[in-house]
Amino acid sequence: MKALIVIDYTVDFVVGNLPVGQPGIEIEARIVELTERFAVNGDYIVLAVDLHEEEDVNHPETKLFPAHNIRNTEGRQLYGKLGEWYSVHEQAANWMDKTRYSAFCGTDLELKLRERGIQEVHLVGVCTDICVLHTAVDAYNKGFQTYIHEDAVASFNPIGHEWAMGHFEKVLGATVVSHFQ
Ligand code: ZN
Repeated sequence: MKALIVIDYTVDFVVGNLPVGQPGIEIEARIVELTERFAVNGDYIVLAVDLHEEEDVNHPETKLFPAHNIRNTEGRQLYGKLGEWYSVHEQAANWMDKTRYSAFCGTDLELKLRERGIQEVHLVGVCTDICVLHTAVDAYNKGFQTYIHEDAVASFNPIGHEWAMGHFEKVLGATVVSHFQ
């Protein structure tokens, strides 16, 4: 069994309060396609979704970014066709709130993967150089074999995106997967 971790593909991160914008919209179809493919194979799908509280003065991101993915807001809903897919396939995926960049930080993601004997994790979503990167770093440190889907990750920062793509491969030993591989 493999895992697909769909990171922060929400309204706020694509078109909302902290938007990736066009590059984020462009990966929509591919994210849905991969999610469907993993679901058909019976693989483990995790929707890792940032969760913040309003005006949380103790959270480090409050000073760094505009408010985003606030609990019970539309911005925290899955974006576009991924949201549509999830509304009819809720049982095929596992929603996982996270409060830090990495999907492993403060969550039971590692336990869920170990329980299932999963060693191979596939990462898609946004932002390539923030939450995808930090999740990949943790996956590396925990010994998971990591795959990054090049046409299913995006960032608002093109330089950061390019840098992270190189870092995944050269420093974290991840496999960068191109379309239809
Ligand atoms: Zn956040």
